[in-house]
Amino acid sequence: MGPSVSKCIICDDVLRNSLATYCRRCGNIMARVETREKAELAARVNALRKAWDKEDKCFRCYYSGIRLNDDNVRDPRYITFDLTALRKGAVLVVTAALIHEMKADLSEDEFKAIITQLAQHFTANSPVDQAIFQLEHYKR
Ligand SMILES: [Zn+2]
Repeated sequence: MGPSVSKCIICDDVLRNSLATYCRRCGNIMARVETREKAELAARVNALRKAWDKEDKCFRCYYSGIRLNDDNVRDPRYITFDLTALRKGAVLVVTAALIHEMKADLSEDEFKAIITQLAQHFTANSPVDQAIFQLEHYKR
């Protein structure tokens, strides 16, 4: 019996070598992040699997759906892990570097509330409710 043909556990692409778990692209993404616990590793793999767009062969941002860049850390669309989800045991997701910076350490609900109110303020000049700035995790 010859060795079985295996594929990347994230995107089903060809493995970077016969002993690898990932393809070259996914291996590079995983190599750039420091993961100490098995559960966190599984969460990262899961986040990447969910973000993978089989048809367009790319990762997509959880918050915006935009195509993420996975090989240029200077690109505002560069793929990042939103680790704030780990805090509450919520699901880990990937997002664009710029959106990650905008979201900071807000929860998903807090982030959406602020972005939505800002958008309404920008488009319809409606007042922003100051109550949305009572944030659970914002610490400076
Ligand atoms: Zn892969």
